[in-house]
Amino acid sequence: MASKHVGHAIGIDLGTKYSCVAVWDDKNGGAKIIHNEQGNRTTPSCVAFTDSHRLVGDAAKNQAPFNPKNTIFGNNALIYIDAKRLIGRKFSDSIIQADLNLWPFKVVAGVNDKPMISVEYKGEEKLLAAEEISSMILTKMKEIAEAFLESPVKNAVITVPAYFNDSQRKATQDAGAIAGLNVMKIINEPTAAALAYGLQKRGNCFEERNVFVFDLGGGTFDVSIVTIKDDVYEVKATAGDTHLGGEDFDNRMIDFFVKDFNKKNKVDISENPRSLRRLRTACERAKMNLSFVKETTIEVDSLFQGIDFCSLMTRSKFEELNKDLFVKCMDTVEKCLADAKVDKNSVHDVVLVGGSSRIPKLQNLLQEFFLGKDLCKSINPDEAIAYGAAVQAALLAENLSIAPDLVLLDVTPLSLGISLKGDIMCVLIPRNSMIPTKHEKLFGTFEDNQSMAKIAVYEGERTRASDNNLLGLFCLSDLNPSPRRHPIKVCFDLDENGVLKVYAEESKTGKKKEITIVNEKGRLTAQEIKRMIQEAEMYKDDDEKFKEKVEAKIALEEYVYKMSAFMEDAKVSSKIKSSQKKNIEAAIGEGRELLDGNQQNVETADFENCLHKLRSIFDPII
Ligand code: ADP
Ligand code: MG
Repeated sequence: MASKHVGHAIGIDLGTKYSCVAVWDDKNGGAKIIHNEQGNRTTPSCVAFTDSHRLVGDAAKNQAPFNPKNTIFGNNALIYIDAKRLIGRKFSDSIIQADLNLWPFKVVAGVNDKPMISVEYKGEEKLLAAEEISSMILTKMKEIAEAFLESPVKNAVITVPAYFNDSQRKATQDAGAIAGLNVMKIINEPTAAALAYGLQKRGNCFEERNVFVFDLGGGTFDVSIVTIKDDVYEVKATAGDTHLGGEDFDNRMIDFFVKDFNKKNKVDISENPRSLRRLRTACERAKMNLSFVKETTIEVDSLFQGIDFCSLMTRSKFEELNKDLFVKCMDTVEKCLADAKVDKNSVHDVVLVGGSSRIPKLQNLLQEFFLGKDLCKSINPDEAIAYGAAVQAALLAENLSIAPDLVLLDVTPLSLGISLKGDIMCVLIPRNSMIPTKHEKLFGTFEDNQSMAKIAVYEGERTRASDNNLLGLFCLSDLNPSPRRHPIKVCFDLDENGVLKVYAEESKTGKKKEITIVNEKGRLTAQEIKRMIQEAEMYKDDDEKFKEKVEAKIALEEYVYKMSAFMEDAKVSSKIKSSQKKNIEAAIGEGRELLDGNQQNVETADFENCLHKLRSIFDPII
């Protein structure tokens, strides 16, 4: 069968802290994780802006401590910074408001109350939507794949946390579009992990298996139950916490040491961002060590006012500091099983995903909960999601030879419905319904001769509609004058990406209206996306220009160095005339002046012209 999608299809795990990209490798019958230009298999989900250029990935993360205000998503930055959390939300959203104080970068309200990140780029304020930041990470992952595959890449499957709502998923699609990707599908992270796991263990999957996926990352937590039978993967339930992860464990340790430092030295470092940042880096490193050793020391030279910091942290102390958070994780595990009506005895495999799933205490609690069952650690927890996404991408592109019949069934994370009279939530698509799905219901008007019907669409689990999340609102007007209970059909159509369309139809006349949830949630308009695509091109141009400038500077530097080395070599330089010597020395001086001077207004051409001039003097002599 001819492929629906031309060219390569990649899988991208767009993580809050790290992202990972993979591609199906038909020769080896598996997905291949692609390393970045630094040789790393995961890339920090980090973007930074400076007065001269923009950085993405490792380079952005490395400079984070010196430029926290203009570094988005950073791993080392002061407190959790994460634009993925801004995606598809409104500025007035309580979650955003709570996070605002913690973020070192500035967030302001934009058009339609959409939160915008404010950064300083080349000395000017620039407002960026979260989708734009995500698109920069996606572009980076695309480029990593392109460098490896040595060809342009268009098609991608992108993963999102199972807990992402409708508008967050759409925003992720928009981010993909801005990055110039054809987003073939958005899939849930745990589903991707189960897929990776299922494929690697295909031998065992002839009977139905219930796979429990435990994914604890840097800032989000997802658990899912996926059943695998032959080639069918069905997500039975998902539960999670969008505000729980490795960062929280780091924070507990930081709080502990800030108090400890205060007690011992009578100084408070809690108001000093630089000290906190350095302590954070050290604490995260200690936390990671404690997954492998029972105790570790934390040292930070001159942490505050010249006072060195040195302390011991044991695994048991770490566990005590985070006890309630670990319990919270286990509560979510229980909730997920209850939702799926799956007994823990009938879980066949427990799969660990996400960096924080390496914490021994959590592994113990999980193992205890599942009555001593061995946990599956065969897949690298940092790579499983990208692996699964690459499998899905290959399936959609129809270039997967290993499992041509494989089917992925996903579920919707939140119930979807409309509000009825009295603010009652009437669910049309219950939570954990398999997608894609379509549900219809007939509703009657409340009054005689009602001329219009208002349809308010909500997502959430509360009985009172207004306690849930309003997705959109529309009216079906000019209804036929009729007695009350005049039938109106409402149809919810949830596509395979979890994106919802709602129609309302007056049954008698066939008068129909479709909802546009888009603006209600501050989703980007087509125009805005177009503008952002253009801007992405501009960034690319800027990046390239910057690279050219650096290269021109290095070329000049090398040439000046070559000239100096020549002059210093007495044997060689004694063979040339003194007038030539003078010329060369003057040229070296000129080169150095340009190289060492203020670079603000120096252009690529200045370096090139200088090199050209030096060459015209020096080349004929040697
Ligand atoms: P995300 O999916 O949110 O991008 P990851 O799955 O990449 O996150 O996990 C990153 C988190 O895992 C970080 O908070 C990091 O500190 C934590 N982590 C990584 N390795 C370890 C380890 N050995 N022990 C404990 N936590 C770890
Ligand atoms: Mg992750």
